[in-house]
Amino acid sequence: MRRMLVAGNWKMNGSHAALAELDAIAASAVASPVIDAAICPPFTLIERAVARAGALPIGAQDCHAADKGAHTGCVSAPMLKEAGARLVIVGHSERRADQHETSEEVRAKAEAAIRHGLTAIVCVGETEAERDSGKTLDVVGGQLDGSVPPVGTGATLVIAYEPVWAIGTGRTPSVADVAEVHGFIRKRLGALLGDEGAKVRILYGGSVKGENAIELLGVADVDGALVGGASLTAAQFVPIIEAAV
Ligand code: 13P
Repeated sequence: MRRMLVAGNWKMNGSHAALAELDAIAASAVASPVIDAAICPPFTLIERAVARAGALPIGAQDCHAADKGAHTGCVSAPMLKEAGARLVIVGHSERRADQHETSEEVRAKAEAAIRHGLTAIVCVGETEAERDSGKTLDVVGGQLDGSVPPVGTGATLVIAYEPVWAIGTGRTPSVADVAEVHGFIRKRLGALLGDEGAKVRILYGGSVKGENAIELLGVADVDGALVGGASLTAAQFVPIIEAAV
């Protein structure tokens, strides 16, 4: 019922020249019609990426909750839509930490994205200290309660579980730990969204590579991956798309 989604988050990386990587990524996505793939480059590359990527959906890494106004440096969901973006990541742990984004703000951003026809990828995940003190499910549950927009949005909402300590470190949770958290998120989505919750895809993110993708994507309740470093080149990202098929 839920199609796999493999999304790349380029973070603050990429250039006009780097968009050449999209050619082989798009070709792989077209050759894998049973799953969804996407790339989220920085704002400045979105329009060029859309023009280059053909059928491969292009997304953004943040949006403002408001449609327009006096918010210097920010970009709104309708602006992303006009640029050709089809999805947007909100509440990434780097933004929750660096920009002090609260779950309430993340929910408002997700609502804005969905209101404008974008798929919102809402990120949650615990820090290493929170995991070590046994608070993982409390933290993830609290982030979900605060950040998940209201019912009726299932088809355009995606959750990404990204343990902060697994991002960019080469470390990943055990299969059992991923299964525990994803099963917990699935249940919580049911409590928050009712039947709509079953439509929401739950991605795993944090040091996903070609070498570990088959194992991670095979875990129960894992509906895809949100990939950072390994999404920057086709050589590394295409094997992850292929692992999802
Ligand atoms: P890495 O795949 O580089 O660990 O990053 C994961 C991530 O933060 C994706 O949003």
